[in-house]
Amino acid sequence: MDCIFCKIANKEIVANIVFEDEDFVVFKDINPVAEVHLLIIPKMHIGSLMEIDMLDASKIKNMFGIINKMADDFGISSKGFRVVTNIGESACQSVKHLHFHIIGGRKFGWPPG
Ligand code: AMP
Ligand code: ZN
Repeated sequence: MDCIFCKIANKEIVANIVFEDEDFVVFKDINPVAEVHLLIIPKMHIGSLMEIDMLDASKIKNMFGIINKMADDFGISSKGFRVVTNIGESACQSVKHLHFHIIGGRKFGWPPG
């Protein structure tokens, strides 16, 4: 499958990986929108959150634990940060492999654009 995030997970293309375990990879977004902008992806190809049933509940729990750990490690948990997943066209999902943006280091507006 021609999926850029599968290629990052398989080390076929280089990314700035900051964490990895058996199931997930976390790397820096190539086009950051804040001081800290990480992406967490499952190593398994999952098209979007709509296919989350492909992941066991225990792995989903682990994923959110990693997100919290990343927020701590990158110093954004105390002031607050944002976790975002875009699903489909209206939400501007550009890479069709499930990923959560972990974004922090500045004050955000709400609602999002
Ligand atoms: P989304 O628009 O929610 O699908 O987010 C996709 C994100 O992937 C964007 O923020 C891109 O900047 C990021 N991105 C795309 N290609 C790469 C890459 N090779 N390495 C790191 N981040 C990437
Ligand atoms: Zn993929």
